[in-house]
Amino acid sequence: MIANWKMHKTVDESRAFAREIVRRLGQATLPHQLIICPTAISLWAVGQELIGSSVMLGAQNLDLGREGALTGAISGYLLHEAGARWVIVGHSERRQFFGDSDALVGQKVAQAWESHLRPIACVGESRDDYREGRTISVITRQIEALLAEASPEALRTLIVAYEPVWAIGSGAVPDPVQANDLAALIRQMLAQKIPDDAPNIPVLYGGSVSSKNIQQFLRQPHIDGALVGGASLQVEEFLKMADIGS
Ligand code: PEP
Repeated sequence: MIANWKMHKTVDESRAFAREIVRRLGQATLPHQLIICPTAISLWAVGQELIGSSVMLGAQNLDLGREGALTGAISGYLLHEAGARWVIVGHSERRQFFGDSDALVGQKVAQAWESHLRPIACVGESRDDYREGRTISVITRQIEALLAEASPEALRTLIVAYEPVWAIGSGAVPDPVQANDLAALIRQMLAQKIPDDAPNIPVLYGGSVSSKNIQQFLRQPHIDGALVGGASLQVEEFLKMADIGS
């Protein structure tokens, strides 16, 4: 389960959340890997709290390159140094508000791997695409860009999150069986370039997941976990979701 905190929580709030999670999890063995993705500015503080726990740290985006005259940019290497081991790429908010194209998302997957980060690539159709029956063609186009831009080595380290844009933050969720079919399609497409590894690439569902509905997605054979935004901001809800599915 991946918690995407987006532009929420101060450094202090992020640190306090991580400390509380580590305390509450104690020595428990969880059925799922947990990854917390705070803002870039809280990465270091959260990472320090997570040392020695099984909870891992991820970033929400990376920029291309290693270092240079790129005001405001944060490279994968810097994220890694701050403690991140995972990075979300191609979140629909990045695609929508920051102009991340399909090709750039593919390049970011490649760059994540170069920077020793594991990429969490998000794909998903908009509300209009969904209404007009373009879901499969959109997912196919987005996955093809990953296959075109990233090497087999990079793709082998991937997690893919299927996140219908219309489900993000809206309270609406797709039929879990349809989400499962799309997860299967994603894996099938990955097999074009990494035939032996595609069955083991985790494919997650994301979009208005909460403790009330997470189980119906985790029950699906092709869905391996969840990427959670809003519901991951509260400790109690986070812990409920982490336990469900055990
Ligand atoms: C997300 O931002 O990736 C997400 C799934 O958000 P939410 O859970 O709030 O819909």
